[in-house]
Amino acid sequence: DGRWSLQGMTALVTGGTRGIGHAVVEELAGFGAVVHTCSRKQEELNACLRDWSSKGFRVTGSVCDLSLREGRQNLMDTVSSAFHGNLNILINNVGTNKRKPTIDYTAEEFSFLMATNFESSYHLCQLAHHLLKSSGMGSVVFISSVAGVVAINSGTVYAASKGAMNQVTKNLACEWAKDNIRVNSVAPWYIRTSLVKELLDDEVFERNVISRTPLKRVGEPKEVSSLVAFLCLPASSYITGQIISVDGGMTVNGFY
Ligand code: NDP
Repeated sequence: DGRWSLQGMTALVTGGTRGIGHAVVEELAGFGAVVHTCSRKQEELNACLRDWSSKGFRVTGSVCDLSLREGRQNLMDTVSSAFHGNLNILINNVGTNKRKPTIDYTAEEFSFLMATNFESSYHLCQLAHHLLKSSGMGSVVFISSVAGVVAINSGTVYAASKGAMNQVTKNLACEWAKDNIRVNSVAPWYIRTSLVKELLDDEVFERNVISRTPLKRVGEPKEVSSLVAFLCLPASSYITGQIISVDGGMTVNGFY
């Protein structure tokens, strides 16, 4: 029964050297997929690739800056030739944040955050469409955020980029259903990664986060990657267009 296997499938996971992306690479490879990943730092990428190879995972990688159009184009060219024009899985994971009051964002900061978080994932979907279609069975997963679901104080531009991602999830799910491509979005609350390390190192901040979280702790990258893998498995073949929060209950918490 192939419902719980990714054997024979190909995947692109953006930003796989740390945090959630790193966990997703290992999860998908563990289910048998062949994975390509990327980041901006060659040395860190090489170290990851060596480690994965020693664990028996089939992972390749290339350096690119996904905030740039050319970086995205090069990445998809590499993926297309590595996987002979077929891609089953696209995980749009790269994203970053810069927290400040709404009126303080410069035009450059606005453009950088939208390019890194939203435009890059949108453009990668455009570039990957024919590869996903020719694979016969495609799955796209956006790593969004609860900041695109409810209002949190993480920064308005970040929230807008994730909200846009959530709407694109619904549109592509409908537009690409005929190509047998499913499109879903995973929306985490605080997950212990390099992106939020400094924030969570502040005890008062962490206590405030935990106080809003029914499960009374922050999440770990593996608790996100398990859902991402499920959304790529044939076992989830009737699920598309959904935005699923991985948040310890935060988004449904009224009073606890
Ligand atoms: P990290 O910053 O820990 O890891 C980000 C990864 O992406 C790294 O591998 C990084 O490598 C790579 N990356 C970043 N920018 C670029 C770029 N321009 N081009 C290519 N690669 C890039 O982040 P997380 O794992 O925490 O976050 C992953 C996703 O999850 C993001 O979209 C984030 O918004 C989302 N998320 C995270 C939450 C959290 O609490 N951690 C909560 C909600 C959502 P390098 O820097 O070397 O390029």
